[in-house]
Amino acid sequence: MGSGASVSEEPRPERPDDGETKPEDARLSTPAGRSDDTLQVEEVLRSGSADVKTTKPDGCTVDIQSVQSEEENNAYSSGNQEHTLQPVLNPAVTETVPEGEEVSLDFESFLHNNGTLYSCFSHHGNRVYVDESQNLQLFPKEWYNQGCFITTNNEGSGQLQTVATSQSTVREDDRTGSIYIQGKGTVMTYMFQERVNICRFWDPQSGVWLLLPLQWEMDGEFAKVRVQRVMSALPGLVDQKEITAALRQCNYDPDEVISVYLTIALLERDRVIEELRHKLQTKEKEVDNLFQRNSYLAREVRYLTDIVQHLNQKLAELEADQQEAREKIRSLLNRRAPAVPPAKTITKPAVDPSQLRQVSRLTRELNISNKQLRSTVHQALADVKNQLEQFKDTIGKLAQVEQEATKEVEELRSLYRKEAVERKSLYNKVLELQGNIRVFCRCRKSLANSCLEKTNDQEVVVIQKGNRKKFQFDKVYPPSSTQEDVFTGTLPVITSCVDGYNVCILAYGQTGSGKTYTMMGSKENPGVNIRSIRELLRICAEKEKVSYTLKISMLEIYNDTLNDLLAKSPSASLDIRVQGKSVSVPGLTQVQVQTEADILNVMEMGEKNRKIASTKMNIQSSRSHLVVALEVEGSDEVSGLTSRGTLTLCDLAGSERISKTEAEGQRLVEAAAINKSLTALGQVFGALKCNALHIPFRNSKLTHLLQPCLSGDAKCCVFVNVSPDINDVVETLSTLQFGSTIRQVSLGKATQNIVPAKNNKTVK
Ligand code: ADP
Repeated sequence: MGSGASVSEEPRPERPDDGETKPEDARLSTPAGRSDDTLQVEEVLRSGSADVKTTKPDGCTVDIQSVQSEEENNAYSSGNQEHTLQPVLNPAVTETVPEGEEVSLDFESFLHNNGTLYSCFSHHGNRVYVDESQNLQLFPKEWYNQGCFITTNNEGSGQLQTVATSQSTVREDDRTGSIYIQGKGTVMTYMFQERVNICRFWDPQSGVWLLLPLQWEMDGEFAKVRVQRVMSALPGLVDQKEITAALRQCNYDPDEVISVYLTIALLERDRVIEELRHKLQTKEKEVDNLFQRNSYLAREVRYLTDIVQHLNQKLAELEADQQEAREKIRSLLNRRAPAVPPAKTITKPAVDPSQLRQVSRLTRELNISNKQLRSTVHQALADVKNQLEQFKDTIGKLAQVEQEATKEVEELRSLYRKEAVERKSLYNKVLELQGNIRVFCRCRKSLANSCLEKTNDQEVVVIQKGNRKKFQFDKVYPPSSTQEDVFTGTLPVITSCVDGYNVCILAYGQTGSGKTYTMMGSKENPGVNIRSIRELLRICAEKEKVSYTLKISMLEIYNDTLNDLLAKSPSASLDIRVQGKSVSVPGLTQVQVQTEADILNVMEMGEKNRKIASTKMNIQSSRSHLVVALEVEGSDEVSGLTSRGTLTLCDLAGSERISKTEAEGQRLVEAAAINKSLTALGQVFGALKCNALHIPFRNSKLTHLLQPCLSGDAKCCVFVNVSPDINDVVETLSTLQFGSTIRQVSLGKATQNIVPAKNNKTVK
């Protein structure tokens, strides 16, 4: 592109007096039949002469002047000069901006019926547009009938004023309304106390607004439909009064009521799980005790068996003694009666009678002791037998108890697993109800006077010339928030990536508002990018039965072209390919990562390549979108299923308008490309917001690439980064407005991308 071409100004041709007057009317009533060929303005300009004629491919000549819109012609009507096209890349020649005053260049977005979105702007009174090859072209007159302009927000460029749709307007506070109450007739109610509120009614008798009885409200159409909605979502909840009261609490937002009840159910589940876990622990303790008792009893049995053995031995010894004693007695008795014939001489007996008595006493005692011993041994044996029987019984019982306990533990475990799965699904449901798009606002540290005030966790107020404008977000991070705080907000969404969801995190805002700080951060204090990939690595390592492969890619979108940042050698710009629901970039380098060091290396390499490329092309990194994508593929060893989730982290180009004084050459084309892509992003969110059948993802490379992350299958977090400096208040308002609009978008139910390992069919 011949940037900065300088062409001398030639007198403008006289404006043809064709009788058409208003420029707006002219847009609509421009007759068709003009040539569709766009004029190669630059050709005209490069030639150095402001030749007003150019040649169409079919050979005929088109008068440039005749393809000017009425609007443009009006612009020329001042003065009776001859009209000549001005060099579009040299604004300084004709446009004078008061010194010291920064005037922003206003872009318009034109949506052609063929589905292409063009960035247009007014240049020296000509409306020009940026074509697909990033060249500036004169806006063809006949296009006025072939598309429409998407009105841009006055407060900033590329904002979200999408193609008009019928939206119900919410009155802020009209303090009127009525509700029909059976038996009472129509009573006046106080509507919209806080956006929506029908809790009060006017009591003419007392002359005051009274609290509306729940029964009345329940019977009113307004509450009825909402109650029905809640009841159909939560079949267990049947008390309509309770639901009505809950609706009041939640400002009549049934989704919020459902979300609250689900959260309560979650808490209840948590309690049940806690109870079950406690029970499980008690049972495990009981089993432990029984085991201990069992081993104690086994020891006892062994000990008693030893005693019995010992007693048996003793008994045998005693029986041997007894036998010996008997032998002795017998021999003594034999000795008492000697076979000596009666003689004349009487000889004294050889044995001492006292000895005999003693022996006989001993024998008696021995017999008694023998008897006692026998009975003791018999008794002991009987006891041991009894005890053994008892032990056998107890052991049998113990085994049974142990079996039962094991069964119970298994049941509890499976119940726990079931509860955990249910809990996860409830948790996902809560996330879905909260919306699959989360919008966070992060305020940078203030260098000058702050125009921002954080009123609570979800609200930020912009103060501009004494006016206060409130914006609500899912969370507002004040300047004091740490990188960890900000990351924690995205954590629930990021972790879904491991379960096969497409997750996207975007940072939007003007240059210098902290997008890169939020996404990339510094080496010592990394941002969402590194922290989230680190967390995913951690989660993947924890899952024993699933093996994960993580692949990372990094690309930059500059002037609607994709550049691979991880390519070893500079590669040609990349294209986007769509296959069914999936969007891919053939040829894009993917690097497998396994450790945190791998991530840091890859990121460093991407950053380095980005710097080299930007220096080569003389651009600032804030003028391009950076997209880091992490593909997480998990294969479950048990089920054989594979899940594929992606985490897309996108640091968008600065959303600020460029000032007219800077609107030259490359900078102008860059600004147009950024405007186009951010407008397209806004359009996509706008179309999602009103559930349009067609979502214009293909209007820019950015939205085309992000399609899987922004359609029904995804979960998305958007950071709107704002600067609190009073000098940036216009851009801050515009950024917050963008975020606010996105917040009203809810994607469809996010679905997991899970496929059986073998046949690769998607399972939803
Ligand atoms: P952007 O990417 O939007 O152009 P940067 O992230 O480069 O903005 O931020 C601009 C400057 O402000 C950087 O020096 C950055 O370190 C600093 N900065 C931004 N946000 C914060 C913050 N929350 N805390 C500390 N410094 C910040």
